[in-house]
Amino acid sequence: MTGELDVVVVGAGPGGYVTAIRASQLGLKTAIVEREALGGVCLNWGCIPTKALLKSGEVYEQLGHLADYGLSVEGRAYDFTKLIARSRKVATQLSAGVAFLMKKNKIEVIEGSARLEKAPAAPKVVVALKAGGQRTLTAKSVILATGARARVIPAAGLVADGERVWTYREAMVPKTAPKSLLVIGSGAIGIEFASFYRALGSEVTVVEALPRILPVEDEEISSTAQKAFEKRGIKFRIGAKVAKLIASKSGVSVTLETGAKSETLQAECAIVAVGIDGNVEDLGLETLGVKIDRGHVVADAFGATNVAGLYAIGDVAGPPWLAHKASHEGVHCIEHIAGVSGPELVAAIPGCTYSTPQIASVGLTEAQAKEKGVAVKVGRFPFRVNGKAIAAGETDGLVKTVFDAATGALIGAHMIGGEVTEMIQGFALAMTLEATEAEIFATVFPHPTMSEAMHEAALDAFGRVLHL
Ligand code: NAD
Repeated sequence: MTGELDVVVVGAGPGGYVTAIRASQLGLKTAIVEREALGGVCLNWGCIPTKALLKSGEVYEQLGHLADYGLSVEGRAYDFTKLIARSRKVATQLSAGVAFLMKKNKIEVIEGSARLEKAPAAPKVVVALKAGGQRTLTAKSVILATGARARVIPAAGLVADGERVWTYREAMVPKTAPKSLLVIGSGAIGIEFASFYRALGSEVTVVEALPRILPVEDEEISSTAQKAFEKRGIKFRIGAKVAKLIASKSGVSVTLETGAKSETLQAECAIVAVGIDGNVEDLGLETLGVKIDRGHVVADAFGATNVAGLYAIGDVAGPPWLAHKASHEGVHCIEHIAGVSGPELVAAIPGCTYSTPQIASVGLTEAQAKEKGVAVKVGRFPFRVNGKAIAAGETDGLVKTVFDAATGALIGAHMIGGEVTEMIQGFALAMTLEATEAEIFATVFPHPTMSEAMHEAALDAFGRVLHL
């Protein structure tokens, strides 16, 4: 590709590569720079390969409950190497899919590490090429989509050593499943790995500094989740901060601070899942004077930074750190650059945790709505009385809806149970369309499905629940 580009995208995760595709669709001459594999953390070390692992774990765990379904098989076993290999194969397949999409959309892929330099218009992008040498790109707009990485806390020993202490990256490819595992942090990453390794039979203890697990979720969902995980044998230390982790050849030892008390726990391995930090280093951002706040680039609703021609989207632009938020922001940003965007988007962003049971939510929790001074109507419907859930043997969990009492608008929905991550989209769509209870009541939900619990939870908020 020769001549000046319209857009250079730095980072080919779900934020960057989707932005590049949309740029190309809009007729913009686009290049994308990536230092590792196409698809970023999501496709290679996050969302996708963990779903492959979790599926293996779920199937294996379900084999232990075959009698519940009137079935039996002789014994059960897993081959850890094959299970990991399957997850890696899925990641490779998806990454190759991104390469195909780049080619199809005539987007030039440049393998290397990008650094920005001052220029009269948009910053210049200097790429240290993987193959050796360097290349300077000039474009009308540069979009940073460099993502984020696992947060480490060296002072407390919360740093991966590749042997006993893992972040999500090492936790995805160990040689064997540990007999005992400490998971530090009960966000989505901690809970998904706790769920996976417990399914394979590891003794798992999750340590959480805050007073409840999955602290971003609605309180009722957190407590229902904790009970469901405890039923599966996962142990919890809540309100317990890991003050120090010491790793040795034989295992890990962590010191917990629980109020005035201190406790020590031992295990074979530990996973550090205490949040993530944006990839803002070694990009030349300081030289350009780009505003950075607590590890992420400050950007407006369209992704524009304080430097002309420079945009930032996805994890590097701050929370929520979710792949679908990155893609969504990227499309919004490039449409704005191309001058085709509509009004500012305020879509609600769903969040999903793919544990057993699954957790999914969108919008405000009941507590958040009340903190904002909104009078609410709240509905609940448990899966234990949903016909499809009973037939499927997936009765743990519930759907909770939060409506604005004054307007009837749905302002939040929270679910825990089998396949709720596939169902939350119904509520997300309802919120984007600014639906009130009237539209949800008028919607016909197919029978028998677990989604009927969504209808019932809305009906319940207005005293009209049918099956309770
Ligand atoms: P997180 O910020 O969601 O959770 C980290 C937890 O660790 C917090 O609850 C915090 O209180 C706790 N913690 C911090 N320091 C501690 C200490 N010293 N001792 C004990 N507990 C401590 O972070 P995460 O789970 O690492 O995930 C990072 C981001 O990635 C999140 O924003 C998450 O939404 C996103 N993500 C999403 C998915 C998904 O959607 N399925 C999957 C993976 C990651």
